[in-house]
Amino acid sequence: MTAATTSIADRAAGVRQRIARACERAGRDPGEVRLIAVSKTFGPEAVAEALAAGVTDFGENRVQEALPKIAAVAGVAAERGLPAPRWHMVGHLQSNKARAAAGAFAILHGIDSTRLLDVLERTAGDRIIPVLLEVNVAGEATKYGFAPDDVAAALAYARGLSRVRVEGLMTVAPPVRDPEEARPVFRQLAGLARECGLRELSMGMTGDFEVAIEEGATMVRIGRAIFGERA
Ligand SMILES: *Cc1c(COP(=O)(O)O)cnc(C)c1O
Repeated sequence: MTAATTSIADRAAGVRQRIARACERAGRDPGEVRLIAVSKTFGPEAVAEALAAGVTDFGENRVQEALPKIAAVAGVAAERGLPAPRWHMVGHLQSNKARAAAGAFAILHGIDSTRLLDVLERTAGDRIIPVLLEVNVAGEATKYGFAPDDVAAALAYARGLSRVRVEGLMTVAPPVRDPEEARPVFRQLAGLARECGLRELSMGMTGDFEVAIEEGATMVRIGRAIFGERA
């Protein structure tokens, strides 16, 4: 079946089933894995459809695109009696958008510098901002994120702040044809989180989420398998 003939609800159900099977293979409880539907480039109506199908968490990678969408979805959800979604900022965050992002999102996944931690600390007001540190596990020149060797220092730095709470680590694996090739990246991130005593592991996308779950992902960020191919 193609994206054109399958509904968002059907595809979300299919993804849930695949998550459950991956958990079963890994001897994990599916309740430990949060599905984040990455809705970038898709409109509020698509998000509302997923929300109506029971998806509770949504991801966006650009603050400017997300802010009006978050407001629009809140309106639609209230109108239709749907639960309010939890929004995750999954992309690179520019420091001049940090304040707006901290206000609109429940958690920020892409924190990749101590400077950004500082900006969040200064703009948080009396709130606590949950974040994940992004790690460039494979050392790709084109990727954002802390080098694995710098994570402990960044975490120590963050622990000196009072308004930012690091809940875990996040990574984007290099694009691969065979998801098995991403396994070492996920395994390394999981090991790093364990060493640091961090619980949350945001890893796995449409092409590789089952392997990520087998390696311990607690949040998978899935766009195309739910919403279809992006234009
Ligand atoms: C777009 C995006 C995703 C989702 O990717 P799909 O391949 O559509 O599942 C996940 N994480 C980040 C950071 C993204 O930008």
